[in-house]
Amino acid sequence: MSENATVDGNDVLIVVDVQNDFCPGGALAVPRGDEVVPIVNRLAARFRNVVLTQDWHPPGHFSFASTHPGKQPYQTVTAPYGPQILWPDHCVQETPGAEFHPALHVPRAALVLRKGMDPTIDSYSTFYENDRTTPTGLVGYLRERGFSRVFLAGLAFDFCVRYSAEDAKREGFTVFVVEDACRGIDVDGSVAATRASLAALGIACVSALSLV
Ligand SMILES: [Zn+2]
Repeated sequence: MSENATVDGNDVLIVVDVQNDFCPGGALAVPRGDEVVPIVNRLAARFRNVVLTQDWHPPGHFSFASTHPGKQPYQTVTAPYGPQILWPDHCVQETPGAEFHPALHVPRAALVLRKGMDPTIDSYSTFYENDRTTPTGLVGYLRERGFSRVFLAGLAFDFCVRYSAEDAKREGFTVFVVEDACRGIDVDGSVAATRASLAALGIACVSALSLV
């Protein structure tokens, strides 16, 4: 954990995928994923600018194991854009699993950014789909709003939060991951790999309590 950071009007908090399917009882539950909800609620109250993201897949999405005969969740297939981990069906558009956790309370969220809507491409990052070239439009939104620092929280630390943080850094934003407001899935050491990658890119992991 690093030094305290003072949140101001040039900062934006991106709350990643705090949805029912990523919480205990959901289709792709992140262990203790629901624990982030009260932390995110308190954190978001300190930001004037908040964006929520929502994984929002059509039925039969490429990232679902059920789309690939004979495949099981957590196996990997080769997509045109590279390796793709297969997941249980999750966050299908307009299903209860795709809704935000019912206790998530972020009234200041100005934008809900949906991702993963192309049936043929997964999207971990809130900035670019997994082909790494198709933008979601969020970079343009953040630039037009004049934000310089991006704070990230939510689910899952080692996938959507990680790739979002890395893309934000590459786009020139100063990036902080509020690690105690995240929980990870941890597939094959992915949490440790995430910490190493963030550190190598100069992305600070901070505690929600360090933000004033
Ligand atoms: Zn997904």
